Amino acid sequence: MELTGLVSSADLRLGPIPGPSNNCLSLLDEKTDFKVTLLPSNFNLENQASTSANVLNVDLEKCSVGMTSFIHEPLSTQPSTSRLRPWSIDDNVESTILLRYKKQHHTLYVTFLLFILLLIYAMSEGYNITAGFDPNLTPDLVRALNNRNTTQAYFGAQSLNINDNIRTRVVYFILDGLRFDATQTNPSLNALVTSPWFVHDSLILNMSAQLPTISIPNWQTLVTGARPSLHGRTGNDILTPFTFDSIFTSSMSVGMKNGITGDAWWSILLNGHLTPFYGDGTSPTLTNNFGDAYYTQGHSDHNKDIAYNQRFHNAINSQTVEKRSNGSNVIVRFDYDLFLSYYGDIDGESHSFGAQSSQTQSAIDDKVAFVRAGINAIAALDAMTQTHTIFIITSDHGNVDVGGHGGDVHVLRAVPCIVYAKDSQLASVNNSLPVYSTFDTVDIATSITALLGVPVPRQSEGSFISPLISALVSPSKWARLYFDLFKQKQALASALLTQWNQSSLKSQYASLFADDAGVNADVAGLNANIERLSALIELSKAHH
Ligand SMILES: [Zn+2]
Repeated sequence: MELTGLVSSADLRLGPIPGPSNNCLSLLDEKTDFKVTLLPSNFNLENQASTSANVLNVDLEKCSVGMTSFIHEPLSTQPSTSRLRPWSIDDNVESTILLRYKKQHHTLYVTFLLFILLLIYAMSEGYNITAGFDPNLTPDLVRALNNRNTTQAYFGAQSLNINDNIRTRVVYFILDGLRFDATQTNPSLNALVTSPWFVHDSLILNMSAQLPTISIPNWQTLVTGARPSLHGRTGNDILTPFTFDSIFTSSMSVGMKNGITGDAWWSILLNGHLTPFYGDGTSPTLTNNFGDAYYTQGHSDHNKDIAYNQRFHNAINSQTVEKRSNGSNVIVRFDYDLFLSYYGDIDGESHSFGAQSSQTQSAIDDKVAFVRAGINAIAALDAMTQTHTIFIITSDHGNVDVGGHGGDVHVLRAVPCIVYAKDSQLASVNNSLPVYSTFDTVDIATSITALLGVPVPRQSEGSFISPLISALVSPSKWARLYFDLFKQKQALASALLTQWNQSSLKSQYASLFADDAGVNADVAGLNANIERLSALIELSKAHH
């Protein structure tokens, strides 16, 4: 920017003008303490005087413009800038400079304001993204779906008891951050899943975890069967209890007993989901995430996992006195129908040292030892009582090689679901039920409720892992389980279509909502409708 000001020839004879340097021109406005320092690189007052008598060319781009209360007047004998101002520089120059100064500051203020607004917006977006709300179903609809009277009308108020005279329970291991490929690459885990005692009675499924591949969004999926796109949790930031129906609330509603050991986050998320008076079993945070003594640096949950495992064994060894109908008392150990045993250190070590690091591999080794010990202890109890425990080992997400998760690359989404049930011949199951080509982690919670003989969680988007039903559930119970899954999908789809006023979708698929739809259908017929309703739920979410 070029500023042109008129300078009288008399003024130019004043010689060098006082200022920070000789080729600087300073102006001072006494009213505002506003000082402009012009520093044109080629400005020389004497040259100006000789070349153009009355025009002062100042390249403002090369000048610094600033506010100061400093008055530079080193020699009282020299003409001061304040005394120079009224008659040396034309007012136009000053006003232009002032205007430019104000504009600059105006821009600064506007920029600052925009920045603050952007920050507030980003914080609110961040809050919305990571908030613990369940925003894709209104609380009223969640409550209506959770109403037990609806399910009890056709399901009864008790467990179906999938194997008539035997108590069937599920012990659910969640190993945070475990990748599917660890079943092949980690020697301890591979040794477990290929052990002769394990291999015939187990099923190893490659599951797809939910996006984002973050813990709590997937934890909710693992216990409710709802995807993050439905339950609305997409981050770990805000912890509020799950409002969706879960494997815990469903089993508790028919009088089953449940418990959990693991991270303190679970005790917040599952507040209200766990059997009263059985203790929630949840370990408090025993060590600081970043202060674990086992490793000198990084994020390690090694000692926490040891504590979780101790509490898990406390639960296994716990004794409950139960009164039998004949009046006698009997002591029951590990009196749980559903137990969740969670460990966090595979993820912790992966974050700090990478998924392939020796630290992560040793964390997997530890967890495999915990799982083995848990299976052995519970199987020993099962042998003494009429109880059959189904063990499920899974993970919430993987980790990339350098450590970290959240995205959609294969190693983050591929998680194992290992199911072990003693004497089940699960590996060679002759499955006569409908089979899906791929399994998804939404199917785990849905299947756990089926194995417990209780209604599926009411907001579940999953189906049954049919080989498990086929191998572990008495065929006489299949129709009721599939009918419940059909009714649940029907109610969920209906709630979504109503909530989002998708009347055209509703009329398009009216046959799926007819009162008698599927009541007399066989499992295959029910399953066809379940698949159509699942597709409609996806469609409804996509159109929303
Ligand atoms: Zn996790």
